[in-house]
This record gives sequence, structure tokens and C-alpha cells, in this order.
Amino acid sequence: MPQPYDRVFNFSAGPSALPVEVLEQVRDEMLNWRGAGMSVLEMSHRGKHFESIVQEAERDLRALLSIPDGYKVLYLQGGATLQNTMIPMNLLAGGTADYVVTGSWSKKSFDMGSLVGGACCAWDGKSTNYDRLPDLERLDYSPGAAYIHFTSNETIHGVQFLTDPKLPAPAVCDMSSDILSRPVDVSKYALIYAGAQKNMGPAGVTVVIIREDMLERTPEKFHPMLDYRLQAENGSLFNTPPCFAIYVCGLVYKWLLKIGGLAAMQAINERKAGLVYGALDDCADFYTPHAQKEARSLMNVTFRLRSDELADSFASEAKSRNLVDLKGHRSVGGIRVSMYNAFPVEGAEAVAAVMREFAAKHG
Ligand code: PMP
Repeated sequence: MPQPYDRVFNFSAGPSALPVEVLEQVRDEMLNWRGAGMSVLEMSHRGKHFESIVQEAERDLRALLSIPDGYKVLYLQGGATLQNTMIPMNLLAGGTADYVVTGSWSKKSFDMGSLVGGACCAWDGKSTNYDRLPDLERLDYSPGAAYIHFTSNETIHGVQFLTDPKLPAPAVCDMSSDILSRPVDVSKYALIYAGAQKNMGPAGVTVVIIREDMLERTPEKFHPMLDYRLQAENGSLFNTPPCFAIYVCGLVYKWLLKIGGLAAMQAINERKAGLVYGALDDCADFYTPHAQKEARSLMNVTFRLRSDELADSFASEAKSRNLVDLKGHRSVGGIRVSMYNAFPVEGAEAVAAVMREFAAKHG
């Protein structure tokens, strides 16, 4: 089925598809943003136009996630990866933090946290190559842990927590690959962070939602760019922020509000994932899913075929039908079907059809 502007079905794990309506608006506003006589790419981050862009983006994000009073929203740089360093630098306060290791990304968080200070691994799913998740509310955590870090969706392994746990220490969550894909009870978290480039907008900006009491932990006379308190006091404008990325995120928030908010988005994401898992389960003697059923991600569906050659041949067959970037990460192998918010339902139907046909032909 032809897509607008001859676009492909883009299964990239990130950066990934943005809503066509958002891209069209970016195009329309590129040379002259709403009568300002200039592009957002060209305007001062201290002027009234950009101020209105940031304020509206924050208001819409707060509305989408029902962010309670008492939380700050920060737009930072350095990707989600820099948060692995900033979080312990700001929040450890000489203590120890617990990390739940459910895949490559939380492993990185744990390893980087260990470089800064006390870090304990509360659980590690390595022995089964991260195909399952623990019950976060039943793990043994360190007494008086400074925080408990977990990753809500493991982008590479395709396992996802779909509820917000009540934890015995401040919860810190990497939501890089599933933020805004479902409603979240923000009050259960002390800090949420996410690189924008999967569900929220372009690469280059990382959103941090931080409970205000956490800001008191930052040491005095701290490195300014790494200081949550200073960034919060300056409304993320301590230095020049990634203006264009923030602007596009703001348009994506408006798109999400227009389609009915995060409950509506979750229903669409469940539909897309249901189509692909349905094909996987119906062809169970041909495909081997990576994630255990209870841990399945709505964002990244991971599975293997009999051999790497057959997986390559699947990816080539899909590509010939304009379905691109389906090859799995090398640590899991096989195929990864990434379908973030902006990925269309028609793309999920198309890949499910290829899966069924391919299994019938080669099974
Ligand atoms: N955490 C998760 C869950 C991710 O998927 C990624 C990127 N794929 C990162 C962290 C790292 O993000 P960044 O590249 O923005 O530093």
C-alpha cells in the first residue's frame, strides 16, 4: 500500500518515525514560524517566541502525563546516556543505589552508576539473556537505598514493565523507549528520564521529570551543566538548549493530545503489538519469540528464525516491500519489530502479513 510522500514503513529502533502531520507542520513553519519572520532554527532561545514554545510544550507534557505539582520538567542534552552519570552524581549523596538489570540499557545504567559511587545490583536477568522481568515490588533492596533504578522498556531485548511499581526507595526510571506510550502514574516516581528520539521527537533532547525534593540532594558548588537544581532554577535555559528538538517535541505532544491522549495511544499500541504477536504465536513452530509472554514489550517485538541466514532473508523480503530496519540487535539476533507511537497500524498489518507468508513459504 503506497504511503504518503513515498515513505517506507520505518521499523528503526530509534531515531524513529515521527507523525506525518508533525513533519508537515515542521515543513510549513520552516521558513517563517507563525509570522515571526524566521525559522525556529534561527530564533533566540531567550526571545518571546521561543519562550512561548517551551512553555506550551511543558504545559502539554504536563497535561498528557498528568504530572502533579511538585515536579520539574527539564530539557537536557547528552542523551539518556548522560543521565546514567548525572543521576548518581546528584542523587547518591554519599549513599548507595540499587539497580534492576533487565537488559542492555539497565546494565549500562548500572555500570555507569558504579563508576560514580555506591551501586548494588538488585536483580540481573543475564542468565536467560534478559527474556523475563522480576516482580519489582518483591525484590530485596538495600536498606536505605538512595534510589532504585529500573528501565521500563528494554529496547534491545523487547521486555517491558507495563505498570508503575510502588517501591521502598525513590524510583528512578529510564523511559527512553516507552515514554508517552501509555498513561503513567508519575507520583510513583522520583525521577523519570527519556531521550526524545523514539516516542517524543528528534534526537538531541532528553526530558527529565524530577520530584522537587530530589533537587535538595545535589552537592553545593556542583558542575553547573550536570546540576539538576541549577537546570531547574533556570528553566532548562542555563545555556542554549536544543531549541529545534524541543519545538518538534511540542508538536508531537499536541498530536498526542489530538488523538485522545495516552490512554488512546496505549490502545493503538496494543493493537499494533497484538497484530505482530498474533502472527508470532500463530506461527510458533517457525518463529521463536525472545521475550517470555508476561514480559512482552508493546514497543519492540523480538524473535528469531531457524538461522541467521533465514532472518537475513526475512529482512530482505520485508525490505523489498518497503518495510525497513527489521534486523535485530546482535546481542539477541533475529528480527526486531520496533513500533513506537507514530508508527502506523498499517505498518503492523503489513509486517504481520509478511511474517505469515514467510512462515508458510519456508516452514
Ligand atoms: N535507554 C534506553 C532504554 C534506550 O533505548 C537508549 C537508546 N536506544 C538509551 C537509554 C540511550 O539513549 P541515548 O542514545 O539518547 O543516550
